[in-house]
Amino acid sequence: MWFRRDLRLSDHPALLAAADEGEVLPFVVVEPQLLTDHRPSARRMLRSIAALYEATGGALVVRCGDPVDLVPQAAAAAGAERVHITRDTTPAGRVPDEDVGGRLQEQGAQLVTTGTPCAVGPGLVLTGEGTPYKVFTPFARAWRDHGWPAPADRVGDDVWLPGGADLLAEVGEDGLERVLAAADEDAIDGPAGEDAAQERWRSFLRDDLAGYDTDRDRPDRDATSRMSIHLTHGEIHPRTMLADLAAHPAAGSDAAQRFVTELAWREFYADVLWHRPDSAWADLRDALAGLPYDDGSETDRLVEAWRQGRTGYPFVDAGMRQLLAEGFMHNRVRMVVASFLTKDLHVWWPVGARHFLDHLLDGDLASNSHGWQWVAGTGTDASPYFRVFNPITQGERFDPDGAYVRRWVPELAHLPGKAAHTPWTHPDGAAHGYPERVLDHAEERREALDRYEMARAQT
Ligand SMILES: Cc1cc2nc3c(=O)[nH]c(=O)nc-3n(C[C@H](O)[C@H](O)[C@H](O)COP(=O)(O)OP(=O)(O)OC[C@H]3O[C@@H](n4cnc5c(N)ncnc54)[C@H](O)[C@@H]3O)c2cc1C
Repeated sequence: MWFRRDLRLSDHPALLAAADEGEVLPFVVVEPQLLTDHRPSARRMLRSIAALYEATGGALVVRCGDPVDLVPQAAAAAGAERVHITRDTTPAGRVPDEDVGGRLQEQGAQLVTTGTPCAVGPGLVLTGEGTPYKVFTPFARAWRDHGWPAPADRVGDDVWLPGGADLLAEVGEDGLERVLAAADEDAIDGPAGEDAAQERWRSFLRDDLAGYDTDRDRPDRDATSRMSIHLTHGEIHPRTMLADLAAHPAAGSDAAQRFVTELAWREFYADVLWHRPDSAWADLRDALAGLPYDDGSETDRLVEAWRQGRTGYPFVDAGMRQLLAEGFMHNRVRMVVASFLTKDLHVWWPVGARHFLDHLLDGDLASNSHGWQWVAGTGTDASPYFRVFNPITQGERFDPDGAYVRRWVPELAHLPGKAAHTPWTHPDGAAHGYPERVLDHAEERREALDRYEMARAQT
């Protein structure tokens, strides 16, 4: 069993398929640059692998190198005729899978793919004409109608092949020690691994689900599940979450249904990326192909201020600083900071998407690129080009007491209530070094709309 972003033992159809054939050798390949990458997102991946090592009772074999070489070598060394995987439907996952599959075939073995990281595999929800959905609401309806199987049984603790590490002694470089060392480092988020995912999920169901539909847009309240980090690493399968929601006493409530809809967004974006792998780093729709973007040294300076959370717009700065400090940002704030980069700074969305993926612990290519494109107006939503988020009124509406801003921007901690959103109107607003606004939002909004109108007229 070759684990990638499916780092769990429960509800794991590929692992179950492997176990059906006999003893399983659990295998992980870490690419060398991951071990020396000190960004929290890379360390988080290593911590998740370390948690899987513990969960397998030390049976997991961790090797460092290129999976295209190491997986066939490991199969040969272990005498395995079949290597099991969960399908990786991202563009980055598809190519190596084909290469590994080809190499295994050459040595008379086979790559067996079972399941995906989604409740309904990307590509399976189609319109009556057999074409992919391009808009979320009809997709979500069809996705619910399609349905998903019940969670798969958990494999027994006795499933592992003894002595796997010895069998693979000649394969690649042993990466286990460095993975375990990363697990001991200070982490900026909570614990990693399947047990931590289950614990977080149970506590959300117990304490926060009831208020989810009313509070989910409030970054000042810790009202969302924060399950995205666990989902990204496959420490829990969304089907497990959907089954728990269906069995919950509040199953029919607006809150539970709203949560299901959010999981549908994740699956929608995975589906869009499956059909259009090119949309990972380029516009999904070319309706705004003629849109002029800014670049040059002045733009670089502004983008850097955005990255560091020093734009002078408190709600934007709070979000960007939360990202750097926690590797996480609330969804509402993600939309506002993305709008600021694309519509106030007039910068092409991949610049921001890259920064997000560098820092997010829940970095997910599909949700990230399409979350960005939804805001930028190049994605699945047909008419968002005129939607320019106002960073001040968004802050006043979704952080009405200014608590979120004060938490992340200490230079504004002295300002009472919603005054934290408009420090320039307060005599002491800049007393602790908070920067002036780098631009005038009203002016840039007009500029963005002019550019969008021009681009639409051209295409
Ligand atoms: C510009 C931008 C970039 C984003 N980048 C990512 C990313 O890299 N990885 C990522 O997982 N999400 C991304 N999102 C979506 C969303 O912001 C996060 O999933 C959410 O904030 C995670 O917090 P949570 O688990 O507490 O969410 P909850 O509100 O508890 O939602 C439950 C789950 O539903 C899914 N979900 C919720 N909202 C969305 C959404 N808008 N799109 C897709 N899935 C959603 C997530 O899996 C999430 O864990 C992005 C959104 C935007 C606007």
